[in-house]
Amino acid sequence: MRYVSTRGGAPVLGFADVVLAGLATDGGLYVPQEWPHLPAQLPDGYPALAAAVLAPYVGNDFSADQTRALCDAAYATFRHPDVVPLVDLEPGHRLMELFHGPTLAFKDVALQLLGRLFDSILTARNERVMIVGATSGDTGSAAIDGVRGCANVDIVILYPHGRVSEVQRRQMTTVDSPNVHTVAVDGTFDDCQDLVKAMFNDAAFRGRHNLSAVNSINWARVMAQVVYYVEAARRAGGEIDVTVPTGNFGNVLSGWIARRMGAPIGRLVVASNQNDILTRFFESHEMRATGVSPTLSPSMDIQVSSNFERLLFEMNGRDGAMTRDQLSRFRQTGSLLVEPDQYGEWIAPVFRASRASDHDTLVTIRSVHETTGMLIDPHTAVGVKAAREHMREGVPMVTMATAHPAKFPDAVERATGVRPQLPEHLSDLLERPERTVNLPNDLAAVQQFVASVAR
Ligand SMILES: *Cc1c(COP(=O)(O)O)cnc(C)c1O
Repeated sequence: MRYVSTRGGAPVLGFADVVLAGLATDGGLYVPQEWPHLPAQLPDGYPALAAAVLAPYVGNDFSADQTRALCDAAYATFRHPDVVPLVDLEPGHRLMELFHGPTLAFKDVALQLLGRLFDSILTARNERVMIVGATSGDTGSAAIDGVRGCANVDIVILYPHGRVSEVQRRQMTTVDSPNVHTVAVDGTFDDCQDLVKAMFNDAAFRGRHNLSAVNSINWARVMAQVVYYVEAARRAGGEIDVTVPTGNFGNVLSGWIARRMGAPIGRLVVASNQNDILTRFFESHEMRATGVSPTLSPSMDIQVSSNFERLLFEMNGRDGAMTRDQLSRFRQTGSLLVEPDQYGEWIAPVFRASRASDHDTLVTIRSVHETTGMLIDPHTAVGVKAAREHMREGVPMVTMATAHPAKFPDAVERATGVRPQLPEHLSDLLERPERTVNLPNDLAAVQQFVASVAR
């Protein structure tokens, strides 16, 4: 399998190179040259299913046995025998719990595999990388956990000092592994992101330390997430609609790919919080950027959804130059309009969307608790509200539950009066020793730190 950039101006690469590259050199995102079809026989068990679904994407870069071994190891870190269990919520509506991994959010599904892919590719090539990233919460801890055991990967994660929740901070700072480093920056999440961008833009620094990223545009993350959509349809035993709490459009794009590969998925419901650029797009056919405001579902507080570019490329008939021009106009004007025929062909038959305010989120958490006794996290609640609005007669709905309620205990307690407990393997999280450094919002200071921990 070969991969092309959505902006048409980067080299065509194989799987291993795409995994290491992350972003294409023309600023685009890598996508496979064609979409494969699902195998006729889907093997039982999640790791076996993952290996079968991913086989056409990894091509010849990994043997079937290697892929299977990586999937076995990645999903052995999940605490539920089904890995991603499907549970009843209310008549016709089920939750797929994606939060049984080490850091309690769905990002583990992709990052447990990505860390192992990285290490395996680097070991074979006798290379090392330094992953640097900025986090406002979930991604940092999931990325750290995905690479904590990797011999050829170091990781430095920047987070805004005093602005991530205690659980999220401790999930990063209590990992006792010589290749893991965290930095509390005196600044905001945007400051952290700017520092990371500046390090990548410093070509000499980037080259000296072989900087790399594991952000949500990495193809391997999107690919790994396709598997649980296939699994959801299989367990439901027929056609389903799926609702996805959405930020960067990575998760729901994976659902679209599963559908494209032949999984029996009818509609995909995009659920946003009040940072609703996507919901507005589905209402108006126009992508228009506005500011971001903080909500109870912080992992969905985004201004522009980076993975939407992959769908746009499809809508443009896989014309990279056209996609590039459209995006550069979007950066200049803050607006991107999709033509009616594109909308009619690509969006209308598949996608629906809804938004939830913080008030809606709390009301939904409370109503689920009252009717079922279950505690759901605020991101999942945004999904449940949207799902309820888009249920169809005779088509089972599955909502992706993207985080464990104990990851966002304050909102859950506010809604229900019940404080969710951390699962057993994290029950002593609040007592574990923390390891982090505090640095000013200063590029030279951060670069000096990165250089000092490079092995
Ligand atoms: C990252 C995240 C999301 C958003 O997923 P995207 O792939 O960015 O759309 C939703 N919920 C939780 C809990 C997350 O961590």
